Amino acid sequence: MLSRFYFLFSLFISIGLSLASTNSDKEFVEEVPILMYHHVRIPPPQAKRLEKILTVTPSDFFQQMNALYQAGYRTISLNQLFEKKWEKRFIITFDDGYKDVIQEAYPILESFGFKATIFVITNEIGKPGHLDWWDIKFLESQGWEVGSHTVSHQNLCHLSMQNQWKEIYQSKVILEKALGHKVYFLSYPAGRFNEQVINLVKMAGYKGAVSTLPGRENKIEDIYKLKRVRVNGGTPLSYFMEKVLGNQAKRNTKISVSKLQRPTRSVSPLKSPSQ
Ligand SMILES: [Zn+2]
Repeated sequence: MLSRFYFLFSLFISIGLSLASTNSDKEFVEEVPILMYHHVRIPPPQAKRLEKILTVTPSDFFQQMNALYQAGYRTISLNQLFEKKWEKRFIITFDDGYKDVIQEAYPILESFGFKATIFVITNEIGKPGHLDWWDIKFLESQGWEVGSHTVSHQNLCHLSMQNQWKEIYQSKVILEKALGHKVYFLSYPAGRFNEQVINLVKMAGYKGAVSTLPGRENKIEDIYKLKRVRVNGGTPLSYFMEKVLGNQAKRNTKISVSKLQRPTRSVSPLKSPSQ
């Protein structure tokens, strides 16, 4: 198995990185904001500054989703991004695969009929505070997408090519084996990538990858460095809407926050067999 892996690895390298050129020369700009979240929960009292930044409270998350819902926005998946020119669509992504995604974010999203993509670190699956396989399969059964956030969440730019390949390819294989289908998207740990990393991501068979480069618009030629809108904890709702929708926010959104109501459809709390 290992020798096959290295054979394939060297074969790919010998074919040459030049083969992995961009898959399209079409000039196609899609203004479908890709939101980036990590934790959705009340930050624990001992949370450090970075953790607080990466944590959106359930009530803020609800307000954000409700504001987009009331403005007529609906979710699409990363796979659908360049299918056509979309109107009033957005994409939700969660990096790192934290347990609170299924505990807190999922019921809120479900009440709006929204779907999201989770980028999981395969070494962390099932560890305390992280989603386990049951959770991941459940979210998938609900129409969510699953992508790779590599094997161990290291900065890919600091690794040897062999280890970059391992992080990128092995995580894909592990997910595909467990889920029984292809995995097409990757999220770069800490948003770090370079041309060599992109080439390996293409060779591993991913259709695209998300970065932490800021922005709402994406071109098809940048499908391996998709920009995202980072949503930090404590972001005021009006600023969130401006960040996500840009000028569209002014055109389309006339929402009084005080009038926002929780949708009536309720979702029963989730319990996985392992909990
Ligand atoms: Zn991460």
